[in-house]
Amino acid sequence: MRRTLLSVLLLAALPATVAIAADSPEAAVQLAQDAIIVDTHIDAPGELQSHWDDLGVLTPNKEFDYPRARHGGLDVAFMSIYTSPTEDAEGKAWQSAHAQIDAIEALVQRHPDKFALLRSPGDVERLRAGGKVLLTFGMENGAPIGDDLGELAKFHARGVRYITLAHSENNRISDSSYAHDKKWQGLSPFGGQVVAEMNRLGIMVDVSHLSDDAIRDVLAATDVPVIASHSGVRHFTPGFERNLSDELMQAIAAEGGVVQLVFGTAFVNPQAAADMVAHFQARAALARENEALAAAGKPLRSKDEFEKAWAAAHPVPDTHIDAVLDQVDHAVKLVGADHVGIGSDFDGVGGELPAELKSVADYPNLVAGMQARGHDEETIRKVLGENLLRVWAAVEAAARR
Ligand SMILES: [Zn+2]
Repeated sequence: MRRTLLSVLLLAALPATVAIAADSPEAAVQLAQDAIIVDTHIDAPGELQSHWDDLGVLTPNKEFDYPRARHGGLDVAFMSIYTSPTEDAEGKAWQSAHAQIDAIEALVQRHPDKFALLRSPGDVERLRAGGKVLLTFGMENGAPIGDDLGELAKFHARGVRYITLAHSENNRISDSSYAHDKKWQGLSPFGGQVVAEMNRLGIMVDVSHLSDDAIRDVLAATDVPVIASHSGVRHFTPGFERNLSDELMQAIAAEGGVVQLVFGTAFVNPQAAADMVAHFQARAALARENEALAAAGKPLRSKDEFEKAWAAAHPVPDTHIDAVLDQVDHAVKLVGADHVGIGSDFDGVGGELPAELKSVADYPNLVAGMQARGHDEETIRKVLGENLLRVWAAVEAAARR
């Protein structure tokens, strides 16, 4: 049910008096355009570092660009300032984060008619007038701040409005859900200070990627609601700690926070999630084997060969939008319509996405799916963006700068 740009242009040309049935595809497109859509996780900045494109024009080899964002009704895109544990280990995370922010600022300056930088939720209505897509920053992995709390204020000044405390490995701040051996059994002592300073500055704390214990520690430490910027529902992927358990979703909601549901196949398809867990375990086993080989002075097994063989043996399962809608239904039923949102992970999962949610052009498909499953307009608007803006405003209002 993917709609072409032409069909939307034709729709926009319809006189206002033409009645549109509430559950028609046109109604979904219309609601996606009218509602404020906030997507809290788009990895475009990292993609620009590996291959530059002008995202102000149609860029089919990527999942975010201006024409498709407009087509999909996207209003606020959190650009993910992602740095890897490897960059952290090599001392390159701070540099990489600033370069990615620069790249997005350059994009906005190149197209001031299409994009604007967003620093406060209170500016959304004013800035989105005229069809602009508003860009703001979420930092994925707290690595760029190193061990210096003072860096938080500097990144806040550059526009960073949430920080995912850790990524795929334990770091100075927190344990990671993906880490086989946890270092801190939750947040580190420094991590506790980071959460307090983020509260003070008005930077949202993002618990996606964290271990269960770390999420519980964050909830105990924070004075304000938190977000999970791009997480799935563990109910559908048992044993996959990267997705949130019912208990943790309820705890996040109880403190007023919001769970932004992710679209990536690995998070919504049970087989793909199981494969991912097994992949991490196999990778860790290979690393241990290579350590032993190195210690014995023998040649190491090739990581590239391992990855190639793994990919060949574990094809990505075909996945459809129903898998995402199942998670939306479960989350709304469990924690209520006020605590669910969306964080796609577009440009961050190597194209491994449900067939009907392949790019920022496709939010109308999500709207149509929610309508078909009986969610009312109020719920859909909350999930699309109002909930996230509410949490952001609460965090901003509680800042003590
Ligand atoms: Zn991520």
